[in-house]
Amino acid sequence: MKILVPVKRVIDYNVKVRVKSDQTGVDLANVKMSMNPFDEIAIEEAIRLKEAGVAEEIIAVSIGPEKAQDQIRQALAMGADRGLLIKTDETVEPLAVAKLLKKVVEEESPELVILGKQAIDDDSNQTGQMLAALLDWPQGTFASKVEKKDGKLEVTREIDGGLQTIAINLPAVVTTDLRLNEPRYASLPNIMKAKKKPLDVKEIGDYGVDIAPRLEVVKVTEPPVREAGVKVESVAELVEKLKNEAGVI
Ligand code: AMP
Repeated sequence: MKILVPVKRVIDYNVKVRVKSDQTGVDLANVKMSMNPFDEIAIEEAIRLKEAGVAEEIIAVSIGPEKAQDQIRQALAMGADRGLLIKTDETVEPLAVAKLLKKVVEEESPELVILGKQAIDDDSNQTGQMLAALLDWPQGTFASKVEKKDGKLEVTREIDGGLQTIAINLPAVVTTDLRLNEPRYASLPNIMKAKKKPLDVKEIGDYGVDIAPRLEVVKVTEPPVREAGVKVESVAELVEKLKNEAGVI
């Protein structure tokens, strides 16, 4: 089967994010950008399915700026076969991403789309679910294990209080949770080889999807600064503070 893996270019998870002074968003100038960590897990899972003989081809797709080619190249260096960039400098909300991905699915006919459970920039956790709804495909979200069994996909899901295993028909949409796998690092020879793998670049206009924002960001603010801790002299003082200052007992 063919697997489609959407990968998003986001601020690297190690970067301390700064909010712009006009509160319209976060500052992206001169900030290290990387592949969304859950998407690395999605690429890794697709590669493992290919190595197990379940999949034949992996396509990595990103919707974003020209520089999102770096993240697609990383996916290719890890082991994806070809890439597609749908180029835009606009903000693309999850619904618009899902609509574009639906068009790509119609063109490529993959049997499986593996997305991250959420992009760590906006924490939307919407795209996979919306894509499944638009395609009318079954979905296995927050996957911690994926296996193909008797023509179906068995997906173990991380839910409150335990693990839920579901069997879904293919074609399907899966979203990855943190414990699904540990993504591999791309080796230097594979990074070199990835430069020669095909990477198609298209425009939003090629898909006829209206990406105009449906949401208005009212403001973005820094989280409240944590107050410094205090040292107490005795248990009695601790209890007194917990009771009268913190109000937790
Ligand atoms: P979100 O719903 O924004 O939290 O994103 C969930 C997942 O959808 C991500 O982990 C990606 O797999 C995919 N995704 C979201 N936005 C994009 C994008 N611009 N390009 C490619 N994939 C995306």
